[in-house]
Amino acid sequence: MKFNTKTIHGGQKHEEATGAVMPPVFFTSTYAQSSPGEHKGYEYSRGANPTRTALENSFAAIEGGSHGFAFSSGLSAIDCVLRLLNPGDEIIAGDDLYGGTYRMFTRLFKKYGLEFSFVDMNSVDNVTAKITEKTKLVWLETPTNPLMKIADIKAITNAVKEHNSDILVAVDNTFATPYLQQPLSLGADIVMHSATKYLGGHSDLVMGALMVNDEKLAEELHFIQFAAGAVAGPMDSFLALRGVKTLHIRMQRHCENGRAVAQFLQNHPKVGEVYYPGLENHPNHTIAKKQMKDFGGMVSFRLKDESKEAAFKFLENTHVFTLAESLGGVESLVNHPTTMTHASIPEPERLKIGITDSLIRLSVGIEDEEDLLADLDQALNL
Ligand SMILES: *Cc1c(COP(=O)(O)O)cnc(C)c1O
Repeated sequence: MKFNTKTIHGGQKHEEATGAVMPPVFFTSTYAQSSPGEHKGYEYSRGANPTRTALENSFAAIEGGSHGFAFSSGLSAIDCVLRLLNPGDEIIAGDDLYGGTYRMFTRLFKKYGLEFSFVDMNSVDNVTAKITEKTKLVWLETPTNPLMKIADIKAITNAVKEHNSDILVAVDNTFATPYLQQPLSLGADIVMHSATKYLGGHSDLVMGALMVNDEKLAEELHFIQFAAGAVAGPMDSFLALRGVKTLHIRMQRHCENGRAVAQFLQNHPKVGEVYYPGLENHPNHTIAKKQMKDFGGMVSFRLKDESKEAAFKFLENTHVFTLAESLGGVESLVNHPTTMTHASIPEPERLKIGITDSLIRLSVGIEDEEDLLADLDQALNL
């Protein structure tokens, strides 16, 4: 089955009792047993719920995995992966991570004895230089947030596995989605998503996903999901499944509009640097072209006027772009990383990686291109 067909049919079957084409929302916590231990595969909804199962099968299918898991948020999916590790284990991660991931690593898990090194994933050597006998996990995100840096998933995975094939490689695939790149097929062990973003696609839920292609790893993750309990509920599972069915056509338009917005900004006199992997002058354009089918809907840029006032004036005056956190929904959003999504990163760290007051991040939606460009133009020219 090819990708577009998989988003609609992957892992799905019609409901048995009625033939319902979409799975019912199974609002139930528990399931009748005919005799102690005799049941139809469902005992208690923390372990499994049929609506969630339908979604988890879809998640597995779209990333080319054997198993998928749905969590109550993207962060609880990451939390599940880290619980595979033991005190003393070392993790190598990108230095430009989603703010909440960085916060979880440094403020929740460090105190349990996990050791983190943050490296620029631009170079494979930066990663391999940090590998020790205690390294158990490499965590990478590509494209990164908000500077749209690209890591070469295949090159990093190959180099890490050459050192020690037991080191797990996990990829946060939230920005790219499986429409653009499928890390399991590039050698990664675990794919993670904030399904809150493109997979759900309509800004109407908070959810996380993990996908793997290994029976033993799936068993371990399922145990943690069940034992820690941060599962996705049935209503959210239904909405996310509905969202996934249009992932491919939404992404196609996100990419078209993203490219148009990036080109427009690049030629605008009020705009400085533009960060979009589809632009030929993007430092990682070659890897992006090799690794991704297209370049997505996330675009960051700097205003030439570097003052906070200029940024705020722009942010307060867009009308089609809504000023809000999050990304990946059908509607266009604009965000100020310094004060919003990346406020939890200490200022010296933030400045070091280039998240300054003049930086603006756009999640380009699937509206008409003309309206999007006109909105940006009027807010830039105020
Ligand atoms: C939003 C996001 C997360 C966290 O997911 P939640 O659903 O908000 O918990 C993790 N990684 C990336 C890249 C994100 O954009």
